[in-house]
Amino acid sequence: MNLKPWILVSALSLIFFLEGIFPHMRGRQQRLRHALPHLANALINGLIAGVFLGWLTWYAVGWSEDHSFGIARWIKAPSPVTGLISILIFDAYTYFWHRANHRFDFLWRFHRAHHSDTMMDSTTALRFHPGELVLSSVFRVPVIALTGIGLTELYIFEIALSTLTLFHHSNLGLGQRTDRVVRLFITSPDMHRIHHSLVLSEMNSNFTSILSLWDRLFGTFREKDDTSRIVFGLTGFRKERWQGFAGFMLSPFINEEQAK
Ligand SMILES: [Zn+2]
Ligand SMILES: [Zn+2]
Repeated sequence: MNLKPWILVSALSLIFFLEGIFPHMRGRQQRLRHALPHLANALINGLIAGVFLGWLTWYAVGWSEDHSFGIARWIKAPSPVTGLISILIFDAYTYFWHRANHRFDFLWRFHRAHHSDTMMDSTTALRFHPGELVLSSVFRVPVIALTGIGLTELYIFEIALSTLTLFHHSNLGLGQRTDRVVRLFITSPDMHRIHHSLVLSEMNSNFTSILSLWDRLFGTFREKDDTSRIVFGLTGFRKERWQGFAGFMLSPFINEEQAK
């Protein structure tokens, strides 16, 4: 039985509930209305992942097994060690993939649909355009083969990634001290709030998904004392029509200047 959807639904429900009681940014209105297009998109992405992308992943893992290919097989170490190494490489790859999404116009057109949300909360973690999902899944096929990651390790990585993505997008008010401790190890909500800022220099920081190490190592780590005044979203996609489901789906095919 695939537990992943149930873990994610439980984590989302819990975080969404807690955001309502302990919010970082106060006075949020219409949280459910804001969540609806993201939930609808999650259903579409779940369908695409289940039908097409699951097969692609399964094929890539099978290929590296059949050909005894991949770093995890080349290193002669017990399987928990090689599993951990594969997960670390995958997390580092996800960091660079995210940077590429901000660097190259074609990728940015899809990724900016995620950034156009003007009210970031846990449901923003479901706001990834299907185009971005397909592109990221196709581009990671060689990485799966190169790491030689097994299905179990990939399953663990994906559950950790999805749950922590819900957490770092959340509007949970952890308090500055707790957030500082969290970001010593993993991406904290304050770190990711800076990444969703309208200010370009802030947006071009904090790209990592799980370990904060990658941002620290590659010079993109950024902190800010007061993150409650950050303005989320993009200059070109602030209008109401880009926030809803249809606008979100169409936005990769619109030029930012036309959208204003
Ligand atoms: Zn981004
Ligand atoms: Zn994000």
